[in-house]
Amino acid sequence: MSEIAVEYLLARPGREPPQRGATITLADGKVAAVAAGHGEGRGLLAMPALCDAHDHVRGLHHLAFGARDQNFELWRAALYAQPAIDPYLNAALAFGRLAQAGVGTVMHVYSSIRVDRLAQDAEAIARAARDVGVRLGFVVPLRDQQTIGYGPDEELLGLHEPQDREFIRQTWLYPFPSPATYMDLVADVARRIEGPTVSVQYGPNSPQACSDALLAAIGQASERDGRRITTHLLETSIQREWADAAYPGGFVRHLADLGIVCPRFTGAHGIWLRPDDIAIMAGRQAQIAVNASSNLRLRSGIAPVAEYIRQGMPFSFGVDSFSIDDDEDALREMRVANWLFSPHDTDAPLTAELLFRGWHRNGFLAVTGQDGYGDVVPGAPGDVVVLDYDAMAFDVIEDMIDPTEVLLTRACARHVRSVHVAGREIVRDGRVTGIDLPAVEREVIAQARASGARMRELKPVLDRSQATLKRFYGEGLHRRGPPAQ
Ligand SMILES: [Zn+2]
Repeated sequence: MSEIAVEYLLARPGREPPQRGATITLADGKVAAVAAGHGEGRGLLAMPALCDAHDHVRGLHHLAFGARDQNFELWRAALYAQPAIDPYLNAALAFGRLAQAGVGTVMHVYSSIRVDRLAQDAEAIARAARDVGVRLGFVVPLRDQQTIGYGPDEELLGLHEPQDREFIRQTWLYPFPSPATYMDLVADVARRIEGPTVSVQYGPNSPQACSDALLAAIGQASERDGRRITTHLLETSIQREWADAAYPGGFVRHLADLGIVCPRFTGAHGIWLRPDDIAIMAGRQAQIAVNASSNLRLRSGIAPVAEYIRQGMPFSFGVDSFSIDDDEDALREMRVANWLFSPHDTDAPLTAELLFRGWHRNGFLAVTGQDGYGDVVPGAPGDVVVLDYDAMAFDVIEDMIDPTEVLLTRACARHVRSVHVAGREIVRDGRVTGIDLPAVEREVIAQARASGARMRELKPVLDRSQATLKRFYGEGLHRRGPPAQ
């Protein structure tokens, strides 16, 4: 049992003003009681811990291995040079940074295509989540086509320089498992890692990377076992062009017909959804995980959140391993989203209530499958972040501003004092308690730098590959109509 005393409690964030003076008692993983009065908690503010509903949990940042920010389709090729790092350490580093930024729940969209290593990687990642103490939604990567770009792999491979083709084939063009084998793989991963704070989801990497047979198998399996589905959805204008050409009858309609777009569905990004797509998603209460900073950094655009709001489609938020300062600061991401989606000239602005609903209730549902998170009330999950309110409000004149506004204008990871998840204190005095984060960071960087010679050797390959992809998309070769299935 533990007690958290604070001066301000956002018990119902965005819906009620903060409660002045509160002591929260956590027991058996839940909020046991909330009492008035703050004792030693002067200068502190508490609210439910954040949920990062879309992330790739990359402890080593993209920039470190040469993947500079640029448009997504070209950026992706830079993953060729991604060094081999211990999956436990890489995940622990990202989980630790997110926890120190007030995150209690993380969606890990794992994107390795090494099926042979998947089960052991999943175990290492789940162990990292448990050691750090965050709740984890592990998304099993599933794909069986269009790995190099939005066209047949062999054709795209043929456009590459002859000397690079074998390397690219070895890196990305494994023989893909059948849909049935993939479904068994998801069940196997679930048997190995699921528990009270870890759940497993189906992860069609993106609809363009999956055959209809695979998507239909996922839709049926999810309907049967209730596991959620996470995919990337219409992140870029190039994806929109591909989708319109490949599915002239309606791309989102097609995904809905296959059983993918359903109440258990989370699509990341959704920038290029049109109102008719949003209507289909809203009708099924499928949600989008918005990744505002990622979309800015990869020049993808700004999600049409006002239209989501108008049509009542649920949405959550993610860091996507692309926070605006490349530091996993989810609190800053919350503020970026707040500013970006509440312009003065819209009839459907993002309100504080909707912003918190995304970071709390909808995000928790997307990751854990459990509804109702987001209030600090008896019986709620024991997931609470405590911030140094006095540091945020160092110059504020008392009673001149709602503390919620101070939070939404200034909160950063550096203000986080403690984070509890399922009643366990995973961050104390601003530092993760379960692992030695600075040591893990040093080790990850050392492991990456040990692959420096190999990475430098690959750099010309990825530069040439990016030039090839740029020509492919520049010539509109992704807009050629339905793929052969
Ligand atoms: Zn992503």
